Amino acid sequence: MKLLEERIRRDGKIREDGAVLKVDSFLNHQIDVGLYNEIGKEFFRLFADERVTKILTIEASGIGIACIAGQYFDVPVLFAKKSKSKNIDGGVYTARVESFTHGKVYDVMVAKEFLRPEDRVLIIDDFLANGAALDGLIQIVREAGATVVGAGICIEKAFQSGGERIRAKGVRVEALARIKSMGEDGVEFC
Ligand code: 5GP
Repeated sequence: MKLLEERIRRDGKIREDGAVLKVDSFLNHQIDVGLYNEIGKEFFRLFADERVTKILTIEASGIGIACIAGQYFDVPVLFAKKSKSKNIDGGVYTARVESFTHGKVYDVMVAKEFLRPEDRVLIIDDFLANGAALDGLIQIVREAGATVVGAGICIEKAFQSGGERIRAKGVRVEALARIKSMGEDGVEFC
């Protein structure tokens, strides 16, 4: 998606260690709602034929994008909650996720009542890096007996392993901007 690539080139900042792209000025701290709208529209164009019944994302950065996409699909948006508690009651699906940006392991959870076996779920997230967040969400959908129709990702860091690994498992992953490399000279797209 040209619009997103141009915006990353213009306003994205690469952390000093070269591992993290900061998009705080337009995507996941301050939000450019017009850009979110174009992203939501593009996800709808890509997955319009998949008979999506629910969108699933993970808090916090995915929620805004998922909500805009949800308006195009006209389906509910569900977000996995990050939980620090070990004492979660029985009415939830949980998965362990290792955070790439924070280097911590945490549990994510979704109430069982909101995911049904007949659901056709589109997963949406802001970034795909090593794929741990996406793995966790896929695991939760499958545990519910529902179908993952695919994943819509805003920015895939294609130099990390997540995208290739998850596509190899047969999951349709569509990323709107795929980064081949990033460093002192800026960002290069695939
Ligand atoms: P993964 O689980 O695929 O390794 O990482 C995905 C999650 O980590 C995303 O939900 C996102 O919040 C965060 N993340 C991974 N890489 C980056 C990055 O380069 N920049 C930002 N801002 N977040 C990232």
